[in-house]
Amino acid sequence: MKPHIVVIGSSNTDMIIQLDRLPRPGETLLGGEFNMAAGGKGANQAVAAARAGARVALVARVGRDVFGDQAIAGFKRDGLNTDFVVRDRTAPSGVALIFVARNGENCIAVAGGANTRLSPADVRKARTVIAKASAVLLQLETPLESVQAAAEIAGRAGVRVILNPAPARPLPDALLRRVAILTPNETEAELLTSVRVTTEATAARAADRLLGQGVGTVILTLGPRGAFVAGPEVCRMVPGFKVKAVDTTAAGDVFNGALAVALGEGRPLLEAVRFANAAAAISVTRSGAQPSAPHRPEIERLLRSRRF
Ligand code: ADP
Repeated sequence: MKPHIVVIGSSNTDMIIQLDRLPRPGETLLGGEFNMAAGGKGANQAVAAARAGARVALVARVGRDVFGDQAIAGFKRDGLNTDFVVRDRTAPSGVALIFVARNGENCIAVAGGANTRLSPADVRKARTVIAKASAVLLQLETPLESVQAAAEIAGRAGVRVILNPAPARPLPDALLRRVAILTPNETEAELLTSVRVTTEATAARAADRLLGQGVGTVILTLGPRGAFVAGPEVCRMVPGFKVKAVDTTAAGDVFNGALAVALGEGRPLLEAVRFANAAAAISVTRSGAQPSAPHRPEIERLLRSRRF
Protein backbone atom coordinates (compact mmCIF):
# COMPACT_ATOMS: atom_id res chain seq x y z
CA MET A 1 0.00 0.00 0.00
CA LYS A 2 1.20 3.49 -0.82
CA PRO A 3 2.15 5.64 2.19
CA HIS A 4 -0.17 8.55 2.91
CA ILE A 5 1.43 11.96 3.34
CA VAL A 6 -0.10 15.31 4.23
CA VAL A 7 1.79 18.40 3.12
CA ILE A 8 0.92 21.76 4.64
CA GLY A 9 2.42 24.74 2.85
CA SER A 10 2.67 27.25 0.05
CA SER A 11 1.70 27.23 -3.60
CA ASN A 12 3.16 29.81 -5.98
CA THR A 13 3.39 30.47 -9.66
CA ASP A 14 7.02 31.08 -10.62
CA MET A 15 7.55 33.54 -13.48
CA ILE A 16 11.09 33.32 -14.66
CA ILE A 17 12.97 35.60 -17.05
CA GLN A 18 16.40 34.51 -18.19
CA LEU A 19 18.67 37.41 -19.14
CA ASP A 20 22.31 38.04 -19.98
CA ARG A 21 22.63 39.89 -16.69
CA LEU A 22 20.37 41.13 -13.89
CA PRO A 23 18.66 44.49 -14.48
CA ARG A 24 19.77 47.47 -12.36
CA PRO A 25 17.24 49.60 -10.43
CA GLY A 26 15.39 51.84 -12.89
CA GLU A 27 16.68 49.93 -15.91
CA THR A 28 14.57 48.19 -18.56
CA LEU A 29 16.49 45.27 -19.96
CA LEU A 30 15.34 43.72 -23.23
CA GLY A 31 16.17 40.32 -24.66
CA GLY A 32 14.92 38.05 -21.91
CA GLU A 33 13.36 34.64 -22.31
CA PHE A 34 10.22 33.91 -20.29
CA ASN A 35 9.07 30.70 -18.60
CA MET A 36 6.29 30.02 -16.15
CA ALA A 37 6.22 27.02 -13.81
CA ALA A 38 4.28 25.85 -10.79
CA GLY A 39 6.22 26.36 -7.57
CA GLY A 40 5.96 27.12 -3.85
CA LYS A 41 7.69 24.88 -1.35
CA GLY A 42 4.56 23.16 -0.06
CA ALA A 43 3.18 22.39 -3.50
CA ASN A 44 6.61 21.33 -4.79
CA GLN A 45 7.04 18.85 -1.93
CA ALA A 46 3.50 17.51 -2.37
CA VAL A 47 3.98 16.92 -6.09
CA ALA A 48 7.41 15.38 -5.52
CA ALA A 49 5.96 12.98 -2.93
CA ALA A 50 3.08 11.97 -5.22
CA ARG A 51 5.44 11.28 -8.13
CA ALA A 52 7.79 9.34 -5.85
CA GLY A 53 4.93 7.02 -4.92
CA ALA A 54 2.68 8.34 -2.14
CA ARG A 55 -0.97 9.26 -1.75
CA VAL A 56 -0.76 12.96 -0.91
CA ALA A 57 -3.15 15.54 0.50
CA LEU A 58 -2.14 19.20 0.26
CA VAL A 59 -3.32 21.84 2.74
CA ALA A 60 -2.80 25.24 1.12
CA ARG A 61 -4.44 28.50 0.06
CA VAL A 62 -4.64 29.97 -3.42
CA GLY A 63 -6.63 32.89 -4.83
CA ARG A 64 -9.76 32.87 -6.97
CA ASP A 65 -7.72 33.76 -10.02
CA VAL A 66 -6.26 32.10 -13.08
CA PHE A 67 -3.06 31.14 -11.19
CA GLY A 68 -5.12 29.37 -8.54
CA ASP A 69 -7.08 27.53 -11.26
CA GLN A 70 -3.85 26.45 -12.95
CA ALA A 71 -2.23 25.35 -9.69
CA ILE A 72 -5.20 23.18 -8.73
CA ALA A 73 -5.43 21.68 -12.23
CA GLY A 74 -1.74 20.73 -11.91
CA PHE A 75 -2.29 19.15 -8.48
CA LYS A 76 -5.15 17.08 -9.90
CA ARG A 77 -3.00 15.91 -12.80
CA ASP A 78 -0.53 14.61 -10.20
CA GLY A 79 -3.32 12.88 -8.31
CA LEU A 80 -3.17 15.04 -5.16
CA ASN A 81 -6.12 15.29 -2.82
CA THR A 82 -7.07 18.99 -3.16
CA ASP A 83 -10.01 18.93 -0.70
CA PHE A 84 -7.98 21.12 1.67
CA VAL A 85 -6.73 23.65 -0.86
CA VAL A 86 -8.76 26.73 0.12
CA ARG A 87 -9.71 29.36 -2.49
CA ASP A 88 -9.18 32.72 -0.75
CA ARG A 89 -11.98 35.22 -1.46
CA THR A 90 -9.81 38.31 -1.44
CA ALA A 91 -6.08 37.57 -1.64
CA PRO A 92 -4.47 36.67 -4.99
CA SER A 93 -2.50 33.46 -5.50
CA GLY A 94 1.17 33.54 -4.52
CA VAL A 95 3.58 34.64 -7.22
CA ALA A 96 7.38 34.62 -7.46
CA LEU A 97 9.08 36.86 -10.03
CA ILE A 98 12.50 35.49 -10.78
CA PHE A 99 15.33 36.95 -12.85
CA VAL A 100 18.13 34.55 -13.72
CA ALA A 101 21.37 35.85 -15.27
CA ARG A 102 23.58 33.86 -17.63
CA ASN A 103 26.20 33.48 -14.87
CA GLY A 104 23.61 31.77 -12.66
CA GLU A 105 23.01 34.75 -10.37
CA ASN A 106 19.37 35.32 -9.57
CA CYS A 107 17.10 37.88 -8.00
CA ILE A 108 13.69 36.83 -6.67
CA ALA A 109 10.68 38.74 -5.37
CA VAL A 110 7.77 36.84 -3.83
CA ALA A 111 4.23 38.13 -3.24
CA GLY A 112 2.88 35.51 -0.86
CA GLY A 113 -0.78 36.52 -1.33
CA ALA A 114 -3.13 33.76 -0.20
CA ASN A 115 -0.22 31.76 1.28
CA THR A 116 0.15 34.39 4.01
CA ARG A 117 -3.44 33.69 5.09
CA LEU A 118 -3.16 29.94 5.59
CA SER A 119 -4.59 29.61 9.08
CA PRO A 120 -4.64 27.12 11.95
CA ALA A 121 -8.37 26.72 11.17
CA ASP A 122 -7.49 25.65 7.60
CA VAL A 123 -5.11 23.07 9.07
CA ARG A 124 -7.62 21.85 11.63
CA LYS A 125 -10.11 21.08 8.85
CA ALA A 126 -7.62 18.44 7.71
CA ARG A 127 -7.15 16.91 11.18
CA THR A 128 -8.77 13.58 10.25
CA VAL A 129 -6.46 13.03 7.27
CA ILE A 130 -3.46 14.24 9.28
CA ALA A 131 -4.22 11.73 12.04
CA LYS A 132 -4.26 8.89 9.48
CA ALA A 133 -1.09 9.94 7.63
CA SER A 134 2.28 8.20 7.79
CA ALA A 135 3.91 11.66 7.94
CA VAL A 136 3.17 15.35 7.74
CA LEU A 137 5.59 17.46 5.80
CA LEU A 138 5.98 21.13 6.77
CA GLN A 139 8.01 24.15 5.61
CA LEU A 140 8.08 27.84 6.60
CA GLU A 141 6.59 29.67 3.62
CA THR A 142 3.20 29.94 5.35
CA PRO A 143 2.42 31.52 8.76
CA LEU A 144 4.20 29.87 11.69
CA GLU A 145 0.89 29.43 13.58
CA SER A 146 -0.36 27.09 10.85
CA VAL A 147 2.90 25.12 10.98
CA GLN A 148 2.59 24.86 14.77
CA ALA A 149 -1.06 23.79 14.54
CA ALA A 150 -0.12 21.01 12.12
CA ALA A 151 2.75 19.82 14.31
CA GLU A 152 0.45 19.78 17.32
CA ILE A 153 -2.30 17.76 15.63
CA ALA A 154 0.26 15.32 14.22
CA GLY A 155 2.05 15.05 17.57
CA ARG A 156 -1.16 14.21 19.41
CA ALA A 157 -2.02 11.55 16.83
CA GLY A 158 1.49 10.05 16.96
CA VAL A 159 2.16 10.98 13.32
CA ARG A 160 5.75 11.66 12.26
CA VAL A 161 6.50 15.38 11.64
CA ILE A 162 9.10 16.26 9.00
CA LEU A 163 9.99 19.97 9.01
CA ASN A 164 12.00 21.55 6.23
CA PRO A 165 12.94 24.86 7.92
CA ALA A 166 12.92 26.91 4.73
CA PRO A 167 13.02 29.83 4.23
CA ALA A 168 15.21 30.12 7.31
CA ARG A 169 13.83 31.76 10.43
CA PRO A 170 14.29 31.27 14.17
CA LEU A 171 11.98 28.60 15.61
CA PRO A 172 10.48 28.09 19.06
CA ASP A 173 11.81 25.10 21.04
CA ALA A 174 8.23 23.91 21.55
CA LEU A 175 7.96 23.37 17.79
CA LEU A 176 11.40 21.77 17.45
CA ARG A 177 10.52 19.27 20.19
CA ARG A 178 7.64 18.00 18.04
CA VAL A 179 9.83 17.47 15.00
CA ALA A 180 10.89 13.89 14.25
CA ILE A 181 13.03 14.89 11.29
CA LEU A 182 14.44 18.36 10.55
CA THR A 183 15.93 18.93 7.09
CA PRO A 184 17.83 22.24 6.91
CA ASN A 185 20.29 23.12 4.15
CA GLU A 186 23.60 24.75 5.09
CA THR A 187 22.20 28.30 5.31
CA GLU A 188 19.20 27.25 7.35
CA ALA A 189 21.35 25.18 9.71
CA GLU A 190 23.59 28.19 10.27
CA LEU A 191 20.65 30.46 11.05
CA LEU A 192 19.23 27.96 13.53
CA THR A 193 22.50 27.09 15.29
CA SER A 194 25.02 29.89 14.52
CA VAL A 195 27.39 27.16 13.32
CA ARG A 196 28.77 27.85 9.86
CA VAL A 197 28.44 24.54 8.01
CA THR A 198 31.29 23.93 5.59
CA THR A 199 32.64 20.47 6.45
CA GLU A 200 31.38 17.16 7.84
CA ALA A 201 32.70 18.17 11.26
CA THR A 202 30.78 21.45 11.26
CA ALA A 203 27.67 19.67 9.96
CA ALA A 204 27.95 17.30 12.93
CA ARG A 205 28.33 20.23 15.33
CA ALA A 206 25.26 22.04 13.91
CA ALA A 207 23.23 18.82 13.99
CA ASP A 208 24.26 18.24 17.60
CA ARG A 209 22.89 21.62 18.63
CA LEU A 210 19.57 20.88 16.95
CA LEU A 211 19.36 17.45 18.59
CA GLY A 212 20.00 19.25 21.88
CA GLN A 213 16.96 21.45 21.19
CA GLY A 214 14.75 18.36 21.02
CA VAL A 215 14.67 17.42 17.32
CA GLY A 216 14.53 13.62 16.79
CA THR A 217 16.86 13.34 13.77
CA VAL A 218 18.64 15.98 11.68
CA ILE A 219 19.21 15.53 7.95
CA LEU A 220 21.37 18.38 6.76
CA THR A 221 21.34 18.71 2.97
CA LEU A 222 24.67 19.66 1.44
CA GLY A 223 23.92 20.25 -2.26
CA PRO A 224 25.89 17.96 -4.62
CA ARG A 225 27.70 16.37 -1.67
CA GLY A 226 24.47 14.72 -0.48
CA ALA A 227 23.20 14.83 3.09
CA PHE A 228 24.58 14.51 6.61
CA VAL A 229 22.39 12.42 8.91
CA ALA A 230 22.54 12.70 12.69
CA GLY A 231 20.24 10.98 15.16
CA PRO A 232 20.26 8.81 18.23
CA GLU A 233 21.89 5.93 16.34
CA VAL A 234 23.65 7.46 13.33
CA CYS A 235 26.01 10.28 12.50
CA ARG A 236 27.29 10.10 8.93
CA MET A 237 27.25 11.41 5.36
CA VAL A 238 25.06 9.84 2.70
CA PRO A 239 26.79 10.88 -0.54
CA GLY A 240 24.86 12.52 -3.37
CA PHE A 241 24.60 11.28 -6.96
CA LYS A 242 26.91 12.80 -9.54
CA VAL A 243 24.84 14.42 -12.28
CA LYS A 244 25.05 17.37 -14.65
CA ALA A 245 23.15 20.13 -12.86
CA VAL A 246 21.25 22.67 -14.96
CA ASP A 247 18.83 24.15 -12.40
CA THR A 248 18.89 23.43 -8.68
CA THR A 249 15.54 25.13 -7.97
CA ALA A 250 13.45 22.90 -5.71
CA ALA A 251 16.22 20.32 -5.13
CA GLY A 252 15.50 20.56 -1.41
CA ASP A 253 11.76 20.23 -2.02
CA VAL A 254 12.16 17.10 -4.11
CA PHE A 255 14.52 15.71 -1.45
CA ASN A 256 11.91 16.24 1.27
CA GLY A 257 9.00 14.83 -0.73
CA ALA A 258 10.94 11.70 -1.65
CA LEU A 259 12.29 11.29 1.90
CA ALA A 260 8.76 11.30 3.34
CA VAL A 261 7.74 8.61 0.85
CA ALA A 262 10.70 6.33 1.53
CA LEU A 263 10.26 6.60 5.30
CA GLY A 264 6.51 6.04 4.91
CA GLU A 265 7.32 2.81 3.08
CA GLY A 266 9.27 1.70 6.12
CA ARG A 267 12.75 1.96 4.61
CA PRO A 268 15.60 2.34 7.09
CA LEU A 269 16.76 5.94 7.59
CA LEU A 270 20.00 5.84 5.56
CA GLU A 271 18.33 4.01 2.68
CA ALA A 272 15.54 6.61 2.70
CA VAL A 273 18.12 9.40 2.51
CA ARG A 274 19.79 7.69 -0.44
CA PHE A 275 16.39 7.49 -2.17
CA ALA A 276 15.86 11.22 -1.49
CA ASN A 277 19.36 12.05 -2.81
CA ALA A 278 18.55 10.17 -6.02
CA ALA A 279 15.22 11.95 -6.56
CA ALA A 280 16.78 15.37 -5.88
CA ALA A 281 19.75 14.65 -8.16
CA ILE A 282 17.39 13.92 -11.05
CA SER A 283 15.51 17.16 -10.35
CA VAL A 284 18.64 19.31 -10.76
CA THR A 285 19.18 17.94 -14.27
CA ARG A 286 16.08 19.80 -15.51
CA SER A 287 14.49 23.23 -15.24
CA GLY A 288 11.63 24.54 -13.15
CA ALA A 289 10.30 23.62 -9.72
CA GLN A 290 7.42 21.16 -10.09
CA PRO A 291 8.27 20.23 -13.68
CA SER A 292 11.64 18.91 -12.46
CA ALA A 293 10.29 16.42 -9.87
CA PRO A 294 10.92 12.84 -11.06
CA HIS A 295 8.47 9.93 -11.18
CA ARG A 296 9.14 6.73 -9.26
CA PRO A 297 10.53 4.61 -12.15
CA GLU A 298 13.25 7.22 -12.86
CA ILE A 299 14.31 7.25 -9.23
CA GLU A 300 14.48 3.44 -9.15
CA ARG A 301 16.53 3.45 -12.34
CA LEU A 302 19.13 5.84 -10.91
CA LEU A 303 19.31 3.86 -7.65
CA ARG A 304 19.89 0.62 -9.57
CA SER A 305 22.53 2.15 -11.84
CA ARG A 306 24.89 3.28 -9.06
CA ARG A 307 26.21 1.37 -6.12
CA PHE A 308 28.00 2.76 -3.09
P1 ADP B 1 18.28 23.43 -1.12
O1 ADP B 1 17.79 23.20 -2.51
O2 ADP B 1 17.17 23.43 -0.12
O3 ADP B 1 19.23 24.56 -0.96
P2 ADP B 1 20.48 21.54 -1.24
O4 ADP B 1 21.17 22.47 -2.18
O5 ADP B 1 21.23 21.07 -0.06
O6 ADP B 1 19.10 22.12 -0.71
O7 ADP B 1 20.00 20.28 -2.11
C1 ADP B 1 19.11 19.31 -1.58
C2 ADP B 1 19.52 17.95 -2.08
O8 ADP B 1 19.48 17.94 -3.51
C3 ADP B 1 20.93 17.53 -1.73
O9 ADP B 1 20.99 16.93 -0.45
C4 ADP B 1 21.26 16.53 -2.85
O10 ADP B 1 20.65 15.29 -2.58
C5 ADP B 1 20.50 17.14 -4.04
N1 ADP B 1 21.37 18.01 -4.88
C6 ADP B 1 21.44 19.36 -4.86
N2 ADP B 1 22.32 19.83 -5.77
C7 ADP B 1 22.80 18.74 -6.41
C8 ADP B 1 23.76 18.53 -7.47
N3 ADP B 1 24.38 19.56 -8.07
N4 ADP B 1 24.02 17.25 -7.85
C9 ADP B 1 23.41 16.19 -7.27
N5 ADP B 1 22.50 16.33 -6.27
C10 ADP B 1 22.20 17.57 -5.83
